[in-house]
Amino acid sequence: MTTSNYIGGKAGVGQGPEVNVVDPSNGKVIRTYRSDDGQSVEAALDAAHDAFPEWSRATPAERSGILHRLAAELEAVAEDLAQAETAQTGKPIRLSREFDVPGSIDNVAFFAGAARRLDGQAAAEYSADHTSVIRRQAIGVVGSIAPWNYPLQMAVWKVLPAVAAGNTVVLKPAEITPLTTLMLAEACERAGLPAGVVNIVNGPGPSTGESLVSSRRIAMTSFTGSTAVGRHIAGLAAANGTRLHLELGGKAPFVVYDDADLEAAVRGAVAAALINTGQDCTAATRAYVHRSLFDDFVGGVANLMRRVRLGVPTDPETDQGPLVSFRQRDRVAAMVDRAVRDGARAVTGGRAPGGALAEGAYYEPTLLVNADQRSEIVQEETFGPVLVALPFDSDSEALQLANDVPFGLAASAWTRDVYRAQEAARSIEAGTVWINDHIPIISEMPHGGMKSSGYGKDMSTYSFEEYTQVKHVMSDLTGRAAKSWHTTIYGDI
Ligand code: NDP
Repeated sequence: MTTSNYIGGKAGVGQGPEVNVVDPSNGKVIRTYRSDDGQSVEAALDAAHDAFPEWSRATPAERSGILHRLAAELEAVAEDLAQAETAQTGKPIRLSREFDVPGSIDNVAFFAGAARRLDGQAAAEYSADHTSVIRRQAIGVVGSIAPWNYPLQMAVWKVLPAVAAGNTVVLKPAEITPLTTLMLAEACERAGLPAGVVNIVNGPGPSTGESLVSSRRIAMTSFTGSTAVGRHIAGLAAANGTRLHLELGGKAPFVVYDDADLEAAVRGAVAAALINTGQDCTAATRAYVHRSLFDDFVGGVANLMRRVRLGVPTDPETDQGPLVSFRQRDRVAAMVDRAVRDGARAVTGGRAPGGALAEGAYYEPTLLVNADQRSEIVQEETFGPVLVALPFDSDSEALQLANDVPFGLAASAWTRDVYRAQEAARSIEAGTVWINDHIPIISEMPHGGMKSSGYGKDMSTYSFEEYTQVKHVMSDLTGRAAKSWHTTIYGDI
């Protein structure tokens, strides 16, 4: 029977209902597994608790060595990972090979190094009679939930900072995309990660996911996914007083000033809107374009979008594959239909393609104009290959519109003027602001949101703020039974 969980260093099979993993480019089942029957979470928490004392006391060098081996193990199966990622998500193989897999491996390598730089603060005498030391310690067992859009990368973002800092993890991937997360667990075993440090359970969010994040046996919840589920999970964490890290939805603005390099902005907008078929929380979704450039920008984007090659994800020539599922495709299509009904116009796209692609969850690259700033298509996460373009007349209006949504994950400003760029970087409410680009990420720099996009950081050493706790140790220096401050309590008795 197909492996469906990985607990205490062993591959296992759930006893719950059968789940089909579907290739969204043709609707065919590529794997069937039995999901969690309600037992896996407790078993995984047992394993994670058993592993914690030894792993949290391993030296940084020991943890680092194992994580470096993990990077090498993943490198050795990079092509298998890319094929599996593409099969279960429908993303073009070029993206899997050039972005998802190497980005994940680089993140593992980064945290292998960072594991040795987890310093507390040096000792000092802040009180004349005491030496103070700051210890930075692991928290305990972390319950993590990952989404389906970048299954391997999201699993790595959740697991690596946690285990590099000495925590142990129980991770639940999205039910529809479990394959590369299980491959990551196998690579952990080959790398020599002690049993129980990383555990994977597969099952539906509302049952398996919820029993994990509502457990009193986890010290922290780390969640990436939709804002609605994130808010629900925040309630569960609050009831237990559990530490929480939330990476939620986005609705990134893409601001094009009148002095922008138009060709760069057009190319940048199409790439940033269509990456991963738009199923990217930082994807460009709202292009605010100075009115003097608006028609040229719309024409350029529409032309380029029409040239994007939709096709079979395994073909290296394919630019855009299907969405992750028919459910997600239908959700995006319904949102675009509502926008058009409410007055928006599709300059290009706005429909699922016909012909051979009709059997997959495809949707054409879509550019909308005439949408209202207050409308659903401008305010809510779409998570599909859809860009809305809106004109603006002044810099202050552009920044006001850019901030006029509940989300605050990412944004970009396109200008040749350094003062405008700096003002945009300062004013836009987003965890990342790019200048004259949109999308690139790097392991050394943090990723995370503001407002309804959540809080806490993935990647970079900033993520250690989430996955460690700071302890103050204060040691008496005098050796005296009667401390000087005792007189405040009982005079000179
Ligand atoms: P969800 O937020 O529902 O799913 C994300 C993860 O949470 C999955 O592993 C899911 O499990 C799990 N989950 C769902 N419900 C619960 C629950 N009650 N308790 C614990 N875990 C739960 O996203 P969807 O997959 O439904 O997608 C809906 C929308 O969310 C997308 O269209 C997009 O707008 C947004 N989204 C944003 C992402 C981001 O990176 N910001 C990523 C994914 C989605 P399972 O799927 O197995 O049920």
